[in-house]
Amino acid sequence: MARVVILGAGVSGHTAALRLRRMLGRRGDHEVVVVTPNANWNWIPSNIWVGVGQMPREKVVFPLAPVYEKTGVEFHQARAMAIRPEGDGESDQGAVDVEYTDPGRPGETARLRYDYLINATGPKLNFGATPGLGPDGHTVSVCTADHAIAAAEDLRATIERLKAGEPQTLVIGVGHGMCTCEGAAFEYAFNVEHQLREAGVRDLAEVVYLTNERELGDFGVGGMTFEQQGFVTTSALWTASIFRERGVNAILGAHVQRVEEGVIHYEQLDGTTHELAFDFAMLLPPFRGQEITAYDRAGEEITDRVFAPSGFMKVDADYTPKDYEAWRAEDWPTTYESPAYANVFAVGIAFAPPHAISRPAKSPSGTVIAPAPPRTGMPSGIMGRTVAATIADRIKSGDSATAHTASMARMGAGCIASAGTGMLSGSAAGMTMYPVVPDYQRFPGSGRDLRHTKGELGLAGHWTKVLLHHLFIYKAKARAMWWLIPE
Ligand SMILES: Cc1cc2nc3c(=O)[nH]c(=O)nc-3n(C[C@H](O)[C@H](O)[C@H](O)COP(=O)(O)OP(=O)(O)OC[C@H]3O[C@@H](n4cnc5c(N)ncnc54)[C@H](O)[C@@H]3O)c2cc1C
Repeated sequence: MARVVILGAGVSGHTAALRLRRMLGRRGDHEVVVVTPNANWNWIPSNIWVGVGQMPREKVVFPLAPVYEKTGVEFHQARAMAIRPEGDGESDQGAVDVEYTDPGRPGETARLRYDYLINATGPKLNFGATPGLGPDGHTVSVCTADHAIAAAEDLRATIERLKAGEPQTLVIGVGHGMCTCEGAAFEYAFNVEHQLREAGVRDLAEVVYLTNERELGDFGVGGMTFEQQGFVTTSALWTASIFRERGVNAILGAHVQRVEEGVIHYEQLDGTTHELAFDFAMLLPPFRGQEITAYDRAGEEITDRVFAPSGFMKVDADYTPKDYEAWRAEDWPTTYESPAYANVFAVGIAFAPPHAISRPAKSPSGTVIAPAPPRTGMPSGIMGRTVAATIADRIKSGDSATAHTASMARMGAGCIASAGTGMLSGSAAGMTMYPVVPDYQRFPGSGRDLRHTKGELGLAGHWTKVLLHHLFIYKAKARAMWWLIPE
């Protein structure tokens, strides 16, 4: 009997758990165990709609326990604190130390043994990197469903002030020079602007997009080249045109140094520093890995061997420091196996990327101001499924079974910024790219296949986003034939 422990029940971990349970047989001899601190699953992309008050929280979250009960997955509502890949004084079987967050098990801890471990713990929302940032400071966030509820409440109050005739400045973007997920900030800006129009108060509102991107449309993937109706254009022009049409002003190449009540202090790539007064601000935090330590069998700390300094787990990537021009698509991982321990994997945001995708940049004072590489939903789900397939094969055929592979340099991704929830009143800006990590050897010039790298505006993208919302929640609930829905 083999025991697989999965840390995290987000996009990648939940996908891995459901796929693995199915690959190993519903109740077979093997155990699939999920450890996650949250009782609920959250479809994070739709938090954007919650954050503008267009969707209730219940539509983006559901309890995990009944799904795991139904599918035969052992569920521990707990947080992983440490991993012991070599075991401990009692056993050489790998183990994870967990602390329960289950309200029914206050203060309880446990050491859970595993044969295979998947780290799918996603990002730590590192609001602490910027003084005054986040829900405990002076800005709102849409990273969790609860954050999004608070953002919607703040936006509603801002709209009330606008209705009373008070001009308001709304700032949307990222709260640190090294943030990622600019696509989510762009989508929220798109939604807020739409909401202001719907409320009939757009004229008194100034909407500012504050970003670490050197150029609009970078999105942490170094920007995109699109071919449209025979013309070649860029995501920079495309995004600038969307913002111009909607009257959104952008501040580029910005690192937020600190936020005070109603004032953002930021530095730009040219070294200048500025203050921006605001009435409403949604700024995403930078991400880092969760605080999980690692120990060898003797109890010596080996965190540096297993994790990168960013807290993300090292996998089968090439982490050799190189100049930007020397980076290659092949540097990106394919199997997500830890180089230190073959039965340990990291998927989704939890794995350490080998390098940025956007060109690195620093201000004259040395502040790094460049987006970190995004790991969006589709790649995260695909990684979860890929690692599940590797583990299932190894359980069934032995550890020599070849690993399944899925590289972000061979994977496409889509991002749809969609506003409005009605089937006729919505609008969307949708982008697709292939591959996510540009490969200048295979695709000289832009690094991507122009047939599959596109930007489109219109109602169809909005319908797609609504459809994806329903499909992914259906699938995550493991409803009938869920496995037919791709990642
Ligand atoms: C506002 C917003 C909008 C987005 N919109 C889109 C979009 O439109 N399209 C798209 O493709 N992507 C989007 N993304 C990105 C997408 O949400 C991520 O790619 C995806 O969630 C990453 O999956 P993951 O499994 O790596 O991490 P997550 O989904 O964040 O899951 C991590 C899991 O680990 C758990 N965990 C944390 N710490 C521990 C611990 N110590 N022990 C055990 N478990 C732990 C968490 O509770 C969670 O269950 C968006 C992100 C944000 C923030």
